[in-house]
Amino acid sequence: MLYRQPADSVKLLAASKQQDAATVRQAYAAGIRDYGENYLQEALCKIEALADLDICWHFIGPIQTNKTSGIASHFDWVHSVSRLKVAQRLSKHRPAQLTPLNVCVQINLSAETTKAGVSLTAAEALCDEIQQLPRLQLRGLMSIPAPVNDILAQRQNFHPLAALYRRLQQRYSHFDTLSMGMSGDYEAAIAEGSTLIRIGSDLFGKRS
Ligand SMILES: *Cc1c(COP(=O)(O)O)cnc(C)c1O
Repeated sequence: MLYRQPADSVKLLAASKQQDAATVRQAYAAGIRDYGENYLQEALCKIEALADLDICWHFIGPIQTNKTSGIASHFDWVHSVSRLKVAQRLSKHRPAQLTPLNVCVQINLSAETTKAGVSLTAAEALCDEIQQLPRLQLRGLMSIPAPVNDILAQRQNFHPLAALYRRLQQRYSHFDTLSMGMSGDYEAAIAEGSTLIRIGSDLFGKRS
């Protein structure tokens, strides 16, 4: 049996890399509250320019260890945690006056084509470690599978991730986010149980 998420429970995150603050402001006026950024410097300018809005900021890009302090201070969520060292630093740098930083563990579903993320088999041990960190709240899993066009192949890629997500849901409380699906594959992701899709080009147009 394929798992089906009720249609109204999928959250839309706007992947706003390369979009300026004015564009994000327009998207906000249209009702989008969650934004994903990939580069800390670029994000900090927008976060400052849009401080008057009630935006939930998500860091979705690769994390260099020297950026963990800035990320932990200015974001509400991080989707791209795949190393314990990075998680420990995010926890250490999360300011005391803020609520714990929400994190998803990034899973590598296509080891041949990309290095980003922890393998499916190593994910559970990493989640167990992150769960112990005082200033992080483990919320779920994220992945960026290698692009394929065929929707059945896309679903096959997402399927083991969704299975792991449901298994870990039995293990952790507050584990409620399966961050999968982008412009090219969100339909397959939703069919496989995504709770959050990260959409860039389908919202803002093709990036340069
Ligand atoms: C850019 C980006 C997206 C959005 O990609 P589109 O194909 O433009 O929808 C989603 N997730 C991550 C991590 C990204 O870097």
